[in-house]
Amino acid sequence: MSSGDETRKLQHQKMSSDLDTLQLPISGHREKLINAVKKYPILIVTGETGSGKTTQLPQYLHQAGFAKHGIIGVTQPRRVAAITVAQRVSEEMNCQLGRGVGYQVRFDDCTSEDTVIKYMTDGCLMREILADSKLSRYSVVILDEAHERSLNTDILFGLLKQFFHRKCHGKRKATLKVVVMSATLEEKKLSEFFDSCPVYVIPGRTYPVSTVFCNLIGPEDKESSAYVKDVVKVVIDLHTNEPAGDILVFLTGQIEIEKACDLLYQKAEAIDYNYDMQDRSLEGLLILPLYGSMPTEQQRKIFQPAPPGLRKCVVATNIAATSLTVNGIRYVVDSGFVKQLSYNSRVSMHILEVVPISKSEALQRAGRAGRTSSGKCFCIYSKEFWKKCMPEFTVPEIRRTSLTSVILTLKCLEIHDVIRFPYVDKPEERFILEALKQLYQCDAIDRRGQVTTLGKLMIEFPLPPSLTRALIKAASFGHESILLPLAAMLSVENVFIRPGHPDKQQAAILKHQELATKVGSSNDFATLLHIFEECKASVSPSSWCRDYFIHWRALKSAFSVETQLQDILTRLKNNKDFPVEQFSGSRSELLRRCLCSGYFMNVARRSAGKVFCTMDGHGSVVHIHPSSTLFEQEFQLDWIIFHEVIVTSKVYVRIVCPIRYEWVKDLLPKLHEIDVYDLSNVARHEMAEEEVVKLEIPERKDSADSQEGAWG
Ligand code: ADP
Ligand code: MG
Repeated sequence: MSSGDETRKLQHQKMSSDLDTLQLPISGHREKLINAVKKYPILIVTGETGSGKTTQLPQYLHQAGFAKHGIIGVTQPRRVAAITVAQRVSEEMNCQLGRGVGYQVRFDDCTSEDTVIKYMTDGCLMREILADSKLSRYSVVILDEAHERSLNTDILFGLLKQFFHRKCHGKRKATLKVVVMSATLEEKKLSEFFDSCPVYVIPGRTYPVSTVFCNLIGPEDKESSAYVKDVVKVVIDLHTNEPAGDILVFLTGQIEIEKACDLLYQKAEAIDYNYDMQDRSLEGLLILPLYGSMPTEQQRKIFQPAPPGLRKCVVATNIAATSLTVNGIRYVVDSGFVKQLSYNSRVSMHILEVVPISKSEALQRAGRAGRTSSGKCFCIYSKEFWKKCMPEFTVPEIRRTSLTSVILTLKCLEIHDVIRFPYVDKPEERFILEALKQLYQCDAIDRRGQVTTLGKLMIEFPLPPSLTRALIKAASFGHESILLPLAAMLSVENVFIRPGHPDKQQAAILKHQELATKVGSSNDFATLLHIFEECKASVSPSSWCRDYFIHWRALKSAFSVETQLQDILTRLKNNKDFPVEQFSGSRSELLRRCLCSGYFMNVARRSAGKVFCTMDGHGSVVHIHPSSTLFEQEFQLDWIIFHEVIVTSKVYVRIVCPIRYEWVKDLLPKLHEIDVYDLSNVARHEMAEEEVVKLEIPERKDSADSQEGAWG
């Protein structure tokens, strides 16, 4: 990596129009920003989206010599943002991605010893803190997109606040610099949180955006999923009636976006450019999807200007609201919905669901149309919908999501008082208690709230606790080869291709059915495992994927994830505390038993007809999702476990397998034996530090640690 001065020289040489960063609102603030970072241990920097915070500030700090004492780390809540921005900055600095500028996201580390500016997900920095609580490798830690208030960023706020408050870390406190960056939303609150730290405001220029309510969705459609065709209609009307200027469409997820793009292609084809268009300079619509798991080569196209005569139409998730700025947008089409993790009281579970966005989010989306000139935002919903269905602000993730992994991380960092941890917004106590309960249930903590040997092993895996537990179970039997591929398959995007064309759709369904039947008995987990194994063993994995309508890119990721999980496991198996158990039985039983040990909170029993009832104490009614191989076979089933819940018109469970009651019989009592009251005692006990409190929890015959030895 070249020195700061050299880099600056290179940057100026390479200044083409696309890479012209001197025009950004941040560019006049370079010296003042550098001085502010030098002066204050914690600094908040805010500025309109697109002002240059994410791409420029790390470069300024690098040029000012900060990288001499350590890496300049920048966190992002979203993995695509981390990758795309790192790519961009490496181009601006004219260095190879992964060398001077790199990125790290879960299961993909593109950094080297030379890396001085590192973009990463906030989850990655959390994992680094586990290994090194002083973050000794870093000179500056920039927590970006603070207004998003993602779970991990929120926890990092608390950890860094504690870091600066502790009496120890004396020397390190003087060298570590923390910068919190956000769009102009939360700066007051964050400044108060960090003991009134200074806020640097980058003045932005914005142009007026007029809002058009298209009235296609009203308050009665709050749970509708049929808005894709409405969005498509609005885009086509806009394209034919409005003057040139690019369009940015907000939808909620990959499947929807692909569907919308398919429909848009069809409708755009049918336009007669000699008659239908108001603006005769336009000759076509360039449709580009943008979502989290998209291949990076495709993402690049988003930022390139459309060829002359074409209007660019980017169909995106919320990622385009603040994380990534596409230049040239003049029109925004807003669906009014977002896919969000939240607590669903109907099923008493935290699930991903599509919900109306908040009013502040809607303004942020609309603002994307007014960056370079005045613009228009077409909302597919009505004013009524805005008034009645959209909350004022987005609730921070920490207040609506499962805290299990985070609480285990805090406990591993020896922060035992998880209730009085400095949260910017404290989660509801019942969610903290729920997380403690789940950790206790999967043996990650003991009844005194201390992390168990197993919990310490579990934290090493970047997977949800349920899957980790199942994986460790399989490894303890010496049969990890059965769970590693499955854990990998459940960690990548959906592998099944759903073609847009009806003929191909039918062919894909048949091929997918063929894969499922090869497994023998119906079991969605086993099908995923089988796909992994058969693809890997085939002569040409990519053509195998083509034949079976499977996403080759997803499978490639799964192969890489499996190798990484294998590496972690191999390291942990050298540990003398790694559990060893015996199992004799069929492969199918082995797989399902291992799954039971992790997923026993997701057990359901058929109560009548096609209706199942969860056994987690809430007794929620669930149905098997139509995508499952067990769909329409419900009558033959009794007990099942499932990977996840989806709520649409009904509550569905997805990725399902049948189990036997005997396999969970000993585990189910764990779901009920400790109640929230007891755990709040544990929590209170934690506050009282070392004071030993005798809890009134009925003693089981077998202790938490040895209980599972009874298996097999
Ligand atoms: P902020 O963080 O303040 O929202 P950014 O630093 O992300 O702003 O963006 C600054 C500018 O850089 C924007 O005009 C944006 O369009 C441009 N930009 C960012 N990433 C890319 C990219 N990968 N390709 C082209 N332009 C980009
Ligand atoms: Mg940014």
